[in-house]
Amino acid sequence: MSATKWVYGFDEVAEAEQRYGGDWEGVRGLLGGKGANLGEMTRLGVPVPPGFTVTTEACLAYLGGDETFPPGCWEQVEQALHRVEKAAGKRFGDPQEPLLVSCRSGAKFSMPGMMDTVLNIGLNDEVAAGLARLTGDERFVYDSYRRLVQMFGSVVLGRPDEVFEEVLAKHRAEQGVATDSELAAPRLKAIVAEFRRLAGGFPTDPKEQLRLATEAVFKSWNGKRAVDYRNAAGIPHDLGTAVNIQTMVFGNMGDDCATGVAMSRNATSGEPKIEGDYLINAQGEDVVAGIRATKPLEQLAGDMPEMYAQFAAIASRLEKHYREMQDMEFTVERGKLWLLQTRNGKRTAQAAVRIAVDQAEEGLITRQEAVMRVKPDQVDFFLHPQFRPESRKGAVRLANGLNVSPGAAVGVAAFDADLAERWAKQEGKQVIMVRPETKPDDVHGMLAAEGILTSRGGRTSHAALVARQFGKPAVVGVAALEVDMAARTMAVAGRVIAEGDWISIDGTNGDVFLGRLETMVPDISDPWLMRLLTWADEVRKLRVRANADYPVDAERARRYGAEGIGLTRTEHMFFETERLPIVQKMIMTTSPEERAEALARLLPYQRADFEGLFRAMDGLPVIIRLIDPPLHEFLPSTGDLTKRLIDLKVEEARGGKVAGEITEVEALLARVASMHEANPMLGTRGVRLGITLPELTRMQVRAIFEAACAVTREGVVVHPEVMIPLVSHVNELKVQRELLEAEARQVMAEQGIEVKYLFGTMIEIPRAALTAGEIARYAEFFSFGTNDLTQTTFGISRDDAESGFLVRYLRDGILEDNPFATIDRNGVGRIMRLAVEGGRATRPDLEVGICGEHGGDPRSIAFCHELGLDYVSCSPFRVPIARLAAAQAALQ
Ligand code: PEP
Ligand code: MG
Repeated sequence: MSATKWVYGFDEVAEAEQRYGGDWEGVRGLLGGKGANLGEMTRLGVPVPPGFTVTTEACLAYLGGDETFPPGCWEQVEQALHRVEKAAGKRFGDPQEPLLVSCRSGAKFSMPGMMDTVLNIGLNDEVAAGLARLTGDERFVYDSYRRLVQMFGSVVLGRPDEVFEEVLAKHRAEQGVATDSELAAPRLKAIVAEFRRLAGGFPTDPKEQLRLATEAVFKSWNGKRAVDYRNAAGIPHDLGTAVNIQTMVFGNMGDDCATGVAMSRNATSGEPKIEGDYLINAQGEDVVAGIRATKPLEQLAGDMPEMYAQFAAIASRLEKHYREMQDMEFTVERGKLWLLQTRNGKRTAQAAVRIAVDQAEEGLITRQEAVMRVKPDQVDFFLHPQFRPESRKGAVRLANGLNVSPGAAVGVAAFDADLAERWAKQEGKQVIMVRPETKPDDVHGMLAAEGILTSRGGRTSHAALVARQFGKPAVVGVAALEVDMAARTMAVAGRVIAEGDWISIDGTNGDVFLGRLETMVPDISDPWLMRLLTWADEVRKLRVRANADYPVDAERARRYGAEGIGLTRTEHMFFETERLPIVQKMIMTTSPEERAEALARLLPYQRADFEGLFRAMDGLPVIIRLIDPPLHEFLPSTGDLTKRLIDLKVEEARGGKVAGEITEVEALLARVASMHEANPMLGTRGVRLGITLPELTRMQVRAIFEAACAVTREGVVVHPEVMIPLVSHVNELKVQRELLEAEARQVMAEQGIEVKYLFGTMIEIPRAALTAGEIARYAEFFSFGTNDLTQTTFGISRDDAESGFLVRYLRDGILEDNPFATIDRNGVGRIMRLAVEGGRATRPDLEVGICGEHGGDPRSIAFCHELGLDYVSCSPFRVPIARLAAAQAALQ
């Protein structure tokens, strides 16, 4: 058996590749990301300072073997070092022609700054003196030397870095300078001596330096920082790190030296132009640390035209090779260009889209790859205002809550809906509506506000649903926020914010800021995004519909690419100011005549709503769901009524003539109390309401079909689909279907127009899913209401969940994901699968979709694709995201 190869020269990457049969992932696993890339660049002929990689296998053997090098390993390091000496024409530890090396970690997955590095290895007093003679630059040499001792002292010998920093500070003060780079050579020499004393045990033998540094890097794999990082990033703990030992090159040896970082394209806008920063006569960390003002890369073309031309050619070559935008580090040492690192570059959402599209059009990648390269959440960027990064940087962050509806919003705090509306509409103020939580009768305030902030509530809370639907930025469930409605203030992070004070909220990440941050508005009509989404449409199998209650939402949804409406929550229309009293009357009256009258007054409103939706969705399907929510949402609260009663009684005691009003409120209170349900979410809602109040179902059906006939006359093509919510038993559907068909037939006969429609149901109770085969006898389509299905499958209240124990569950890892945000595949998902199979067994052409909040979540969309659903439906603002996510699901 041949001996294990523990060390690979940068010029031996082909051998590593061979070992893994060409599998680059295997090579990265063995040599780490950095080592594999240095090898790859070397193979491409890019100038990389010579060096070699000690493998992750060696690291694992070292850590697993009582911290000793495995047999043969150190000998291989020495041989590799010898080859580097030859290539560089220098010798390690030789004062006449000294080679200095760096020793850096490099794991399979990038763990920036989490492990250790030692630079300038190979210096001791003799070598430093020799190098000073050779370069004629004492200052540079002793600065390099003191850096070595400092790094070695802290990384290898475990001295706290502050010890060294204190010495530097003392010398700066003595010499009267502000920065280390101003310290003169004799002083640096003295510092080296002091550092060596402080470090205790700094080895003068360069080989010993290298050996100890290599061991330290191995050990840093198990350092606390690295372990914590891997836990957070989900990186396995058994991979080990490679160690890269590489010839040092210096960008700080004079004015023919430079160092910089650069991207092969603009990382902010995506423009196809290299951009970066550099410094003449400086070291890499000077560029990153921002101590000296860097120059934009274009100026290198003037400063060092030859270097610039070479670098630009290399950047382009690397990008073509990796087929990705590259982020590179380079150094010019005495007129020679070296590349120290290349990796795929990080970029903004806007740049990600433009780069993917440009690269596809340049033929560098395929269109399908372009579609895969953009994260669905990056599309979100184009749909909402954002805070300017400069503005966010200096801002005071007060708290962080649930990021339930993306975008940035700025306004003065208003603590109730009426005030929010008045300030916004009458006084033209920008308002953030702040509430402990929102209720349906807060909607007018929410619509008038720029954004919504609540201290309670979760991802499917009322505030979240409404905000998402209307594209209002919202942060909810901010536990640190105490809203004092009596004092009209909110307290957070030790500050008290009064009504009218400016606040800023970021619904994209849940941040709440004090004051007025600056925003900017990106745009969905970005030409690159439009092209990318068209490519996505070409490959996706799932259709994308929108949840929309109003014509404006439907129009927006259509602009964003929706192929119909998947859910109209008709009850939302009932909450409008003029309608609510009629709705309340209709529900609370015990007189059939009064109810009929109330319904007759509601009919024209509903008809007009539906006409608007049909017109906006001309030619596309529109699912209208009959009334759903628990009744108490429509009724005045007993608390409000009791308070009103007390006020009236006080007034009466003072001689006010309010007896009539008191009787009225008392009756109302008695009626509301009599309708009280302990568990309204499991009470008279959904189809149960339709069965209890058949007149209500009839009115809604009439409104739908009268509207359909009316717009058909205008030439609009309608495809209504009537949907029944919260069905758990087939008989519920049977009863409603009979009622509906009779009414629909009657309206069509009256109007003399035949409207083709579908009749279907939501699947949002486990029993409905389990008996889907029976239910499909009466339903032509299913739509998964995964908000309720999650609530009823888990037995977790969707309204309270995220402010209570679920937070702890997620923190402690009892649940990996919030099931109200991402479909729980094993539980809820399994039930969905049963429903699809059962339903299609009865009715092969059954149309199946989803309209719960999960319909806009990329991971849930992937699951819906796997289940073979026909469409997903989500808020208009998530339609573009869903288009991309559906395409990615199809391509995966
Ligand atoms: C659902 O339950 O998933 C659903 C879409 O209905 P709603 O959120 O209106 O209860
Ligand atoms: Mg529901």
